[in-house]
Amino acid sequence: MNNRCGLCGNELTSIDTMLGENLLSDGNILCNKCLEKASIINEELLSDLHQFSIKDIENLVQNGAIIQEDKTEENTVENLPIVINSEQGLLTKDLYKKRLKEIKQQLDQLKANLSMFAKGEIKELPNILALDEKILAITDAQFVKTADAGILLVTPKRIISVSKAMFSLAKVHEYLNENILEVSFVKNFLSPIIKIHTTDKIVEFESFFNKDYAEDFYNFIKKIYNKEEPQKQSEEVKTVSSEAVFEQLEKLAQLKESGILTEDEFAEQKKRLLEKL
Ligand SMILES: [Zn+2]
Repeated sequence: MNNRCGLCGNELTSIDTMLGENLLSDGNILCNKCLEKASIINEELLSDLHQFSIKDIENLVQNGAIIQEDKTEENTVENLPIVINSEQGLLTKDLYKKRLKEIKQQLDQLKANLSMFAKGEIKELPNILALDEKILAITDAQFVKTADAGILLVTPKRIISVSKAMFSLAKVHEYLNENILEVSFVKNFLSPIIKIHTTDKIVEFESFFNKDYAEDFYNFIKKIYNKEEPQKQSEEVKTVSSEAVFEQLEKLAQLKESGILTEDEFAEQKKRLLEKL
């Protein structure tokens, strides 16, 4: 008799096997966690589980593009907002395919450099993004101090993190633009950290896959979310110094007029001053 869950491979507990309810048509047994997840996709499982084989369940879980956020599991991980796509509801199969194609084209255009492990998350995007919501930038990312590896992306209205382990539901978090105060970045030799400072918390993501690409992503979102004060300051400095240059030019012109500087000396000094602009 099997003592491991046919889907996740975890050791079965006595509760999983107690009543023999989790037995599949081919002798595999599901753990209660997997059964719960699969039955969210197809409620029929609960009453007729023994009619399904492990292949059926795998197909259901893998191709069940219609996977929505699992609230109960979420609370055990972190108390973060959950995206529920109430606006668009569930996509029809054709619309899902069309959207996935569009999204993949956007990723191509962005030259998205993602690990192969991001494939599962990308397949979730048609269900997460609004029909007209474009991806502006994307990177591999993982919630700091968790095993929730996935992707972090920015659209015109929000930053979204998606994390999906094999055979389980996607964990989706959104940070709406109006709630983001700023973003910051901690360089690190192995895995830099991208921080999103929201009105009520700071969320941190590590990027193990490609630290340069993660930094590019940060440089992009920083332009959107951070007020660029240092930039303004340097512009001010520049205007001040160009004013000084013009002042000196005027003095030079006077010196030439009064015959102190020759035409050539004046031209040379003028050239030097203008180079400072
Ligand atoms: Zn399981």
